Amino acid sequence: MLRAAEILENEKQQFGKLMTIEMGKTIKAAVSEAEKCAWVCRYYAENAQQHLADQMVDTNARQSYVRFQPVGPVLAVMPWNFPFWQVFRFAAPALMAGNVGLLKHASNVPQCALAIEEIFRRAGFPEGAFQTLLIGSDKVESVLKDPRVVAATLTGSEPAGSSVASIAGKRIKKTVLELGGSDPFIVMPSANLNEAITTAVKARTINNGQSCIAAKRFIVAAEVYQQFEEKFVAEMKALRIGDPLEESTEIGPLATSQIVDDLEKQVQQAVAEGGRVLTGGKRLNRPGNFYEPTVLVDVDPSAPVSCEEIFGPVAMLFRVNSIDEAIRLANATPFGLGSAAWTNDAAEQERFINELEAGAVFINGMVASDPRLPFGGVKHSGYGRELAEFGIREFVNIKTVWIGESKVATDDTE
Ligand code: NAP
Repeated sequence: MLRAAEILENEKQQFGKLMTIEMGKTIKAAVSEAEKCAWVCRYYAENAQQHLADQMVDTNARQSYVRFQPVGPVLAVMPWNFPFWQVFRFAAPALMAGNVGLLKHASNVPQCALAIEEIFRRAGFPEGAFQTLLIGSDKVESVLKDPRVVAATLTGSEPAGSSVASIAGKRIKKTVLELGGSDPFIVMPSANLNEAITTAVKARTINNGQSCIAAKRFIVAAEVYQQFEEKFVAEMKALRIGDPLEESTEIGPLATSQIVDDLEKQVQQAVAEGGRVLTGGKRLNRPGNFYEPTVLVDVDPSAPVSCEEIFGPVAMLFRVNSIDEAIRLANATPFGLGSAAWTNDAAEQERFINELEAGAVFINGMVASDPRLPFGGVKHSGYGRELAEFGIREFVNIKTVWIGESKVATDDTE
């Protein structure tokens, strides 16, 4: 696993370029994605032994403990938006736990899928320990039906998650689902406004807006709303759009023309629900799947589009009059992946931590994944966790071991 980390670090420019060419993320982001993959490999290389060490438990037994054992081949169905990171954050813990990884990657990133298989091969993993299956989604069922495949993890949309989980459920195979999000980003009056705004723009436009944990709904206290709106719009307008292979580009093209079509429909829907476009609001008149960074206000918060996942650089702003209203609006979505709240008031921080319905709450920061912290959602954002010790324990047999004193002739008690 350390050797895989070295390969990723040494060749991050080539891997970065591959990601950019296949799905359009900026080269800067792609190269740092390769670095992050090296980080997760190192993290599990260094910590797996401790995460999976026997855990002694005091009972009436002479000795009892929990042992973690591998379960076997696990199928990973992965999305294109972080074509390396999504795979490595599954593969590093799964392989360190002694499992086999089978990757069905998104159909638009086959070269990334093959490059990842090659990294593990070159790193010296046994033949077949990590395999890329170049198959369409219609073939997932037949792989999952195979008795040798014991579990599955899917990162992607709700329909895909629901389909894979039902196929697996019918055969009593465990699943982990990492699905979509409509993360709130809340700004209260005591926040450092300038910092909050700059972070908000980054949180919305990261990966050209195509991230499950991108902030999608900006919920701002009335006292600071006007200032927030003005500066947020100005910063969205100032983003440098261009060729994703240029170092200075901040917003590249979206991954497919279908995503631009979907985005266009959602923005039209938002406008039909009372929304006003403050900047952007249309595709760019240039070759490639470019959509302008867009800010919408006045969208009816009860309209479905206000809390759907919007996968592109489109932000919606909402003005609220109290923390109660902020929390109510933040939770008014079927999703529950990440959430961010900006406030320097300790009592408010505590309320957000307790009351936001999400797998993560970031106070005075933007939601991000980190190998040391668990990652996952609640509600329609899925179940199970990746990363940290929680991630490596998803695909292991948590075996209870109970050792009693045995005399020569024993009673047959259960
Ligand atoms: P997607 O259409 O669901 O595709 C994801 C993967 O599932 C692809 O490999 C796809 O294969 C496969 N797939 C699609 N339908 C399937 C089905 N019925 N049965 C089996 N496999 C199926 O999602 P996407 O558009 O690529 O990715 C964006 C979504 O992923 C967003 O909703 C985003 O929020 C979510 N996401 C979540 C996380 C998280 O950690 N929670 C992270 C990143 C992204 P094909 O490409 O061959 O169709």
